[in-house]
Amino acid sequence: MAGLEDLYREIILDHYRNPRNRGELPVPPARRVEGFNPLCGDEVVVFVDVDPAAGAVADVRIAGQGCSISQSSASMMTGAVKGQTVEHVREVIRAFKAMMSIHEQGLDGEGRQVDEPVLPDPAVPLGDLEALRGVVKFPVRIKCATLSWNTLAQALDEAEAEAEAR
Ligand code: ZN
Repeated sequence: MAGLEDLYREIILDHYRNPRNRGELPVPPARRVEGFNPLCGDEVVVFVDVDPAAGAVADVRIAGQGCSISQSSASMMTGAVKGQTVEHVREVIRAFKAMMSIHEQGLDGEGRQVDEPVLPDPAVPLGDLEALRGVVKFPVRIKCATLSWNTLAQALDEAEAEAEAR
């Protein structure tokens, strides 16, 4: 399906060249968490402003630098989570990471694909994020794609722990 792969490549390049929600947020009230992927040299800084009253991600910004996969994934992530409830955001994180882990299925001991991987039935539609599905064919790049997501999950965990401690 060359047509679909071309479309996916276009989406990834568009987010890389024109990243959405790029910048910083004042800390506090926002939370700032850095993530690194030493395999590729990617760094991402996630600024997330969680509104405790609404239980929602009021705003999110991305800083840092790295390869096209890491930066476009971060850009797409901001569009998927901004303004959403924390509960929904956690579902999107789960669904995205499930999509990124399918490579582990159907591989033999040496990492060759021997069976068709079983695609998880996504609990939430991933939209443009589907464009990153092809990354699973390159296991070394998966950490590029999941970096910003793991960083966001860490920020949400910290925000939650802090709210509970109050
Ligand atoms: Zn990378």
